Amino acid sequence: EEKTLAMIKPDGLFSNHTDAIKKVILDSGFHIFEEMITQLNKDGASSFYAEHSSKSFFSSLIKYMTSGPVLVMVLEKENAIADWRNLIGPTDARKAKSTHPHSIRAMCGQDLEKNCVHGSDSLQSAPREISFFFGGTLSG
Ligand code: ATP
Repeated sequence: EEKTLAMIKPDGLFSNHTDAIKKVILDSGFHIFEEMITQLNKDGASSFYAEHSSKSFFSSLIKYMTSGPVLVMVLEKENAIADWRNLIGPTDARKAKSTHPHSIRAMCGQDLEKNCVHGSDSLQSAPREISFFFGGTLSG
C-alpha cells in the first residue's frame, strides 16, 4: 500500500497535540508503519526544505523547524499521500480554522508558518522524505 511521510512539527509537540493527532490518524484508517522522534539541525532542516531555499521565509522556517524535536511517521494506507494532505488542511493554519475547521492544522496550528504538521505532497517526494528520515531501515 502507499506510504507517506507525516511529521508533527516542534509546535505540535510542544503543545502536546501528539495524542490527538495520532487518534485522527488511526481513526482515518492509516497504519503507522514506523515512527521516531528526532531533532533537526540547521543542515538537516535546510536539506529537507531545500526547495524553499530562495524564499524570503526560509531562515525563519529553519529556525522554527530546529526549535525542538519533531515526530516523524511513515503512514501506510491506500491513497495515503493525498488522503494525509487532505486531512492536514491548508498551509495557513489561521485560514484553515475558518475554511477547514475539522483539519489537523485548524486543530493545532497557529499561522502560515507554525502549522504543526507536515505531509509529503507527491509520489516523488514521499519516498524521498521517507528515506531522508528512515533511510536504510525500511523494508518496503
Ligand atoms: P509542508 O511542506 O510543511 O507540508 P506545505 O506543503 O503546506 O507544508 P509549503 O509551501 O511546502 O507548504 O511550505 C513549507 C512550510 O514552510 C510550511 O508548512 C510552513 O511551515 C512554511 N511556510 C510556507 N509559506 C510560508 C510563508 N509565506 N511564510 C512563513 N512560512 C511559510
